[in-house]
Amino acid sequence: MEVHHYGCCSNCNHSFNSRHHWLSRNVERLQYGNPDAVPRQHSCCTVLNSEVFAQYCGEDCAWEGVFHEMAARGITGGRLGSGPVEPCSKCGTPIDLTQPHVTFELMDLTEIDQPWLSSVEPHHSETVARLCSKCGGLAIEESESISERPMIKEPISVQA
Ligand SMILES: [Zn+2]
Ligand SMILES: [Zn+2]
Repeated sequence: MEVHHYGCCSNCNHSFNSRHHWLSRNVERLQYGNPDAVPRQHSCCTVLNSEVFAQYCGEDCAWEGVFHEMAARGITGGRLGSGPVEPCSKCGTPIDLTQPHVTFELMDLTEIDQPWLSSVEPHHSETVARLCSKCGGLAIEESESISERPMIKEPISVQA
C-alpha cells in the first residue's frame, strides 16, 4: 500500500504527516444567545464559505507562515474580541459580526484517510484576523449560504 502524501508545508517545504495546520479564509457569521450576558459570547458560528490557502507542518511553521501571509496583505493585527462589533484587522472599520464577514483561521487538525472517505479531526482553531467586506474581498454570493437561498428555479438562458 502506498503511503498517503498529505502535502508540503507552505513555509519550510517539507512534506508533513496526517497532523498539520491549515490556514483558511472563511466567510462566517456569528449568532449571539443571551444579549444581556457579559461578556457577550457568541452561541453559534455559521461558516458560509471556507477555503484553505496554506498548510503547515507544525505550530512553529504555522505562526511564521501566518506572520508572512498577514504582512503580505497589510494586516497589522489588533484585538480579536468576542463581539458583537469588532474592528477590522486591517483598516479598523467596525465589523458587525452577526453579518457575513471574512476571517483567517488557523486550524490544528488530523486528516483521517480511509479507503472510502477522508475526514478531518480538528484539535484547535484560532482566528488570526478579521476583515471587513472591503479588506476581505467579500463577494456578494459568498454572503449567502446555500441553505438560506430561496429555492427559486432560475430560467435557463439559451444562447442564440
Ligand atoms: Zn514546515
Ligand atoms: Zn477593513
